[in-house]
Amino acid sequence: MKRCLACNALYTSSFTDCPTCGVGPELVDGFPAYAPGLADEGEGFKSSYFLELARLEEANFWFRARNRLILWALEEYCPEFQSLLEIGCGTGYVLSGISKHFPQTTLHGSDLFSAGLGFATVRVPSAAFMQMDARQIPFKDEFDVIGLFDVLEHINDDERVLTQVHAALKPQGFMLLTVPQHAYLWSPSDEYACHVRRYAASDIHRKIKAAGFQIARSTSFVTTLLPMMMASRFLQKIKSTGEFDATAELKISPWLNSLLFQLFRAELTFIRRGFSFPLGGSRLVIAKKT
Ligand SMILES: [Zn+2]
Repeated sequence: MKRCLACNALYTSSFTDCPTCGVGPELVDGFPAYAPGLADEGEGFKSSYFLELARLEEANFWFRARNRLILWALEEYCPEFQSLLEIGCGTGYVLSGISKHFPQTTLHGSDLFSAGLGFATVRVPSAAFMQMDARQIPFKDEFDVIGLFDVLEHINDDERVLTQVHAALKPQGFMLLTVPQHAYLWSPSDEYACHVRRYAASDIHRKIKAAGFQIARSTSFVTTLLPMMMASRFLQKIKSTGEFDATAELKISPWLNSLLFQLFRAELTFIRRGFSFPLGGSRLVIAKKT
């Protein structure tokens, strides 16, 4: 169902505007916009970053590896899902992977910034895209799965987002979440990416449970790269002069890119077998609406 952000009325998703009060989304760059005032800026992300990101993520091991993990999580925990909303879909890289793997599903993508949605539509023509503030989700009991992949760390009021996600999921629906982990890895990369925090496992678990979810699985990943990340972040900190190049971590040599991807595949083998890593650069949480 849709939930009207103006009068809170619930109505069927086939209506664009609220049948009770007549309020509906504006159009921004051709997309339904539920928070049009924030479409170009607001907390979280620099929209100029999308162009660079779209180019880099096709080849970079991190995005390819994270997609593998997400597809595995969907297959393992929500094999029957029919509908999925990705919040913070950016340029649509994750959704394009999901649409190839699960072609029969109905896919939705949302982002606070409309800048990435144009790329996303080209990548995943079958998905429906909208501009939306994750703190005000205009749906209730609508989706089988909602994914937030490296999104929550951009938002101050993350607890409100989790509550809204819980409401927008169908009963027994699943939330898939990835977040950066360990405060001691905080670096200029986090600042450039407009992160508000890196999470501790206990912190994210507490917030997820408080929103009404039951945790089905939680594991760190990018564990084998942790020593390398620590070294890279340490070097960033002591290199105090000069321009900070935030995409430097993404511009790596092809052999290293390939090596890192192989390392991650080895990690995924352990995760598939039920082993949950306690430490790692990121954390995956799969949580069920109860
Ligand atoms: Zn209304």
